[in-house]
Amino acid sequence: MKHTESNPLFYQTNAHIPIVSHAKGIYIWDESGKKYLDGSSGAIICNIGHANQSVIAAIKQQAESTFFTYRTQFENAPAVRLAQRLVEHTSPRLERVFYVSGGSEAVESAIKLCRSYYRARKQEGKHIFISRSPSYHGSTLGALALTSYAPLEIPYRPLLKASPKIPAPYCYRCHYGKTYPSCDLACAHALEQEIIEQGADNVAGFIAEPIGGASTGALVPPDDYFSVIRDICDRHDVLLIFDEVMTGFGRTGKLFAYEHWQVVPDIMALSKGMASGYYPLGAVVTSGKIVDSVLSAGGFPHGYTYAGNPMACAVGLAVFDEIINNQLSANAETMGCHLKSGLRNLADKYEIIGEVRGQGLLTAIELVQNKPNRTPFGPELTAGSMLTEIAFSKGLIIYPRRSINGLKGDHVLIAPPIIISKTQVFDLLTILDESLEEITQVLKKNGSIA
Ligand code: PLP
Repeated sequence: MKHTESNPLFYQTNAHIPIVSHAKGIYIWDESGKKYLDGSSGAIICNIGHANQSVIAAIKQQAESTFFTYRTQFENAPAVRLAQRLVEHTSPRLERVFYVSGGSEAVESAIKLCRSYYRARKQEGKHIFISRSPSYHGSTLGALALTSYAPLEIPYRPLLKASPKIPAPYCYRCHYGKTYPSCDLACAHALEQEIIEQGADNVAGFIAEPIGGASTGALVPPDDYFSVIRDICDRHDVLLIFDEVMTGFGRTGKLFAYEHWQVVPDIMALSKGMASGYYPLGAVVTSGKIVDSVLSAGGFPHGYTYAGNPMACAVGLAVFDEIINNQLSANAETMGCHLKSGLRNLADKYEIIGEVRGQGLLTAIELVQNKPNRTPFGPELTAGSMLTEIAFSKGLIIYPRRSINGLKGDHVLIAPPIIISKTQVFDLLTILDESLEEITQVLKKNGSIA
């Protein structure tokens, strides 16, 4: 019998996982009837929670009308309306929308748009994109080339265009061994040095997650970081691209994370919370100046078959209305404060929590073997995955990754749907507390901690 006959499906590994039965609000049930609190919104995507009735109604209504038409043959009302809504709710500088179906596609589109803009302006040399280390921008080859997360990019390096990276503002383990603010934001000024080294005539864009996602564990930059970055980009005629795939749509307590500092990017990549898991959807939002330059110089030779289809956009519109009408960004801000203060209490209680990070409902704890020295756990221990498995067994879903370029520095992301209530935040913290207690006992027993 073929190994795959019972279940031929495969993703990253052969891991055995339960089969879902149904999901509602912030909860998911498996086929055995076990209930899970979705403390990571899947992969930080289901911002508005599961089984939202308004979205389901919008899907039914759209299904009765038109599921799919192709974007070069028909315009569709949900696509236009959603683009209008996005533009209404972003900076006046962000006035045009280009649809895609996911985060990697959004990043690919952002960099190709940026490149097309400089070609349109006859600055053919501008083709280099600078990004940060660590970072995550997607799994397709262009987005992966801008990513710095060793386990994901090392296997494919021969296929990737080498792209310069500057250190992310990871203050807990500063690349320069400095402390904020006496560091004078060396990590931001590194962008200018890199542009000069590459030659400003060759550099097209700088891309960053405004608040770090999986690769850095909800890394929040110092307040003045992005204004320095914006100034450097402007002075060297380099476009600033914000990858808001994870941070967008209320996740960090604002509709978009750039609002925390009012530093507006030239191009913004969006997905995840945009359709909150109800349908594949993403977008690039940018300025009229960039789009007009590209289109008047012959067009933007780029696109995906599913882009801007009526169903995807009807879903996006219903999700957007839910976020705006129910003030879910504000809820993320308030609940994020409760969550973070609970996580800080857990950090006081457990020696294995080195740092609590995050903004709104994008939060993380970094696990350490030795708190005073900030010593990470050895990678072979897989402490983050261990904590995730313990939490899962107790009915809480969290999301493990590593902050030291994916190699060590275990952290877990805690990012529940932004509809979560205060009581539910406390439920989440209770299960996390029990899980931390259990992992602490395990680590003591096997001699990993004193
Ligand atoms: N950019 C960021 C910041 C992300 O977090 C992700 C996914 O986690 C992506 C891009 C890629 O998105 P997708 O997996 O939808 O292609």
